[in-house]
Amino acid sequence: MRKDFQSESTNDTFIKEANGSVVVVGASLSGLMTGIALSRAGLNVTILERAGAKPRSGAVLQVDSGEIDQTKTAKFLRKIASGGIRSAEAWSSIQFRLRTEAEADPKITLYYDTRVQCVNQDDNSAWVVTDKGETFHGDILIGADGHRSIVRRYVASHKPSATFAGYLIWVAIVDENDIPEKHRPSLIAPKLSMPDGIGDFLLGSIIAGADGSNALGNRRLGWAWYDNTQNDLLRRLGCVDGNVVRHSLNASDIPEQTLIELAEQAAVRWPQPWLDATLHSIKTRNLTGTPIAEYVPDNLVKGRIAIVGDAAHLPTPLTASGFNASLQDAAALAECVAKGIQGNSAAEALLEYESIRLKNARQIVQSGQSFSRSFGR
Ligand SMILES: Cc1cc2nc3c(=O)[nH]c(=O)nc-3n(C[C@H](O)[C@H](O)[C@H](O)COP(=O)(O)OP(=O)(O)OC[C@H]3O[C@@H](n4cnc5c(N)ncnc54)[C@H](O)[C@@H]3O)c2cc1C
Repeated sequence: MRKDFQSESTNDTFIKEANGSVVVVGASLSGLMTGIALSRAGLNVTILERAGAKPRSGAVLQVDSGEIDQTKTAKFLRKIASGGIRSAEAWSSIQFRLRTEAEADPKITLYYDTRVQCVNQDDNSAWVVTDKGETFHGDILIGADGHRSIVRRYVASHKPSATFAGYLIWVAIVDENDIPEKHRPSLIAPKLSMPDGIGDFLLGSIIAGADGSNALGNRRLGWAWYDNTQNDLLRRLGCVDGNVVRHSLNASDIPEQTLIELAEQAAVRWPQPWLDATLHSIKTRNLTGTPIAEYVPDNLVKGRIAIVGDAAHLPTPLTASGFNASLQDAAALAECVAKGIQGNSAAEALLEYESIRLKNARQIVQSGQSFSRSFGR
């Protein structure tokens, strides 16, 4: 796969020799896309990720949703991330493709189990200090460290935190083989459904199996249940503190009574196959509660340091735009730094990135806020 991209790119003048360096904080979808894009723009890239190298799971996303990419880098990133698949699929499949690309790139070095504790800069470079006491320097530093970004706290110290939107989403992915055969969807069933509940609703997606197969019996059912009745629980368990989301509600921490109530609610809400899918996840404790936060940025850059992805703009997942915006951030950054980042050019390149992306970043978050205001509590 990679060979194809390389040969296709032989005459692509956008791939440049290494000239300058960048430290990227976070190796999730946004950090990996940023690293890949900046390597192509001629930078030596160091990516630091606090989680371990073990593959992680996540929600369901659609990469190739018909957006028109304006730059070669954006097209390239979408091609790698989507693997040519146009329908929704598991976050882990997208992350795997990006990670494979990054690991095969000699200009990218990835460190796992490395938590960044602070960031700073002077006239000549920007740097991070990790929990192991190591310092990594770059000509520029990019925060792709998600909704509780430590880099954002530096870049936007006047507005460091995203705000709890007043609801959570229960998310899970279930093998269709784990539900009774009579309730498995047919091959012609719609890939996406959105059944209404009782003041709540569910987004259900039929996605390929972990091996990419769409054959009957091999597929998976991804579901996301928007629930605005768990805020007391989230606060009691420390997932939400005041208006700030601290962490997700992991399966092992969900109280037994909450699971019993969820199963009762599912029974009177969801049609098949979503009823069996939700009940299976509840019964096997294979679900996560994600408290939703939102962040409208006022700025994306401070000197040699910038933010991208969910660190930069955090819309409700209902907008289905967080991934796409992250891809456009990475592509825009690459275009801006490709002109060079020596001396003052570093800060100028990042300011150009901000001027390209800030308005759109604000709009995508604002576009979901009327929903959150009416649904959140
Ligand atoms: C339930 C749900 C459904 C969604 N559905 C869609 C959809 O349909 N379409 C869409 O476009 N978008 C969707 N999104 C949004 C999309 O997933 C994100 O916008 C996108 O993946 C970009 O995330 P990110 O990489 O910026 O942040 P994250 O995925 O949060 O990654 C941040 C990374 O930084 C690391 N990190 C954090 N702090 C540190 C530190 N101090 N040091 C080192 N590493 C650190 C974390 O471990 C993590 O790996 C959805 C999101 C959710 C929660």
